[in-house]
Amino acid sequence: MDHHLDKALRARADAVIPGGMYGHQSTGMLPDDYPQFFSRGRGAHLWDVDGNKYLDFMCAYGPNLFGYGHEAIDAAYVRQLGLGDTLTGPSELIVQLAEALTRTVRHADWAIFCKNGTDATSMALMAARAHTGRKTIIRARGAYHGSAPWCTPRPTGALETDRAYQILCDYNDIASLEAAVAEAGEDLAAIFAAPFKHDAFVDQAEPDPAYAQRARDLCDAAGALLIVDDVRAGFRLSRDCSWSRIGVQPDLSTWGKCIANGHPISALLGSNAARKAAASIYTTGSFWYQAAPMAAALATLTLIRDTDYLDHLERIGQRLATGLGERASASGLGLRVTGPVQMPLFLFDDDPDLRKGFCWSSEMLDRGVYVHPWHNMFMCAAMTDDDIDQALNAAESAFKVLKVKGPTLPPVAKMAFLTASRS
Ligand code: PMP
Repeated sequence: MDHHLDKALRARADAVIPGGMYGHQSTGMLPDDYPQFFSRGRGAHLWDVDGNKYLDFMCAYGPNLFGYGHEAIDAAYVRQLGLGDTLTGPSELIVQLAEALTRTVRHADWAIFCKNGTDATSMALMAARAHTGRKTIIRARGAYHGSAPWCTPRPTGALETDRAYQILCDYNDIASLEAAVAEAGEDLAAIFAAPFKHDAFVDQAEPDPAYAQRARDLCDAAGALLIVDDVRAGFRLSRDCSWSRIGVQPDLSTWGKCIANGHPISALLGSNAARKAAASIYTTGSFWYQAAPMAAALATLTLIRDTDYLDHLERIGQRLATGLGERASASGLGLRVTGPVQMPLFLFDDDPDLRKGFCWSSEMLDRGVYVHPWHNMFMCAAMTDDDIDQALNAAESAFKVLKVKGPTLPPVAKMAFLTASRS
């Protein structure tokens, strides 16, 4: 595959963007032949700047739920853009959207809108502290809640004090959760929960209903708030908060990524119990009233309500997960496909430094399929059975190449950098 335009842009970016790029497209996070720059997206597909087309299993790390450039959603966005987007105050859409979300998410009685998932999780933290007048939060070791100083996985530039008053526990481990609550004592403000264990680099795990219920009970007993961080998984597992699938309702939930199918908006949702606290904290941003993403979110919620997208995601996700497992074992490779089928993670057995994962992913890329070697992926409603067939055919031949190349693979160049990102 030709990537010469991408390479040229990387060289230019190196001069004017610190480190060449930030976030998931930082150098070394993905195999070297992965493109960094994209020119367009449509449905389930992406085109890089060199014109190469990929079936995209990352979905922009979540935001693409109904397909890139979805006609109805983007029409709503463009219509509102014509009327006004960032104005001196919000449009009436903010009320409509809060009404729609509180109708959709059972635990929620109110909503506050912001831009990124980190805004929502940081506001949740403040609201819980305001509600309880306490400081300590508990969260699971390795769980990602954003890039603010209090939760960044790489502490460079953050102070010890930014990360103070936090106790880590092990996900799905009731004894560890109880020990953390005991350690917090009278100071417990909140338990932060990921809807399932979706940490990078390690197998994913569904939430144990007993663990989720214990978190709810411990919060109730302590007068603390339970927060579910649904930024990544929200609306891919359920038309409600993700823990509603296991019968546990939080006090607060955080949303972002796909709620407007890629348009910039996130939200903190809460129950009446936390309303006063949410009103008491200082929350705003220059773009938090933006009306066009709200129009897109309303159109997205209509599709969430009126289409069978969830059944579709589950069905094609199951086909992919089962098909990959079968093809990997037919090639004599151990591949673990973990997590909900709508958000699968693929990791190879005996691959501590991700050499196999990097090699296989880059073979997939060569066959026009964009996968990720160590982060969960995302299914979208625009994927078809033909797309899954393409992915499985590509996987089969990529497994064969890996089987042959495996023993001679070079080390992953930036492995130290990657492992430093683990938390
Ligand atoms: N929480 C979770 C669970 C996430 O996956 C993310 C983003 N990956 C965030 C919070 C932060 O969201 P954002 O990148 O939009 O700030």
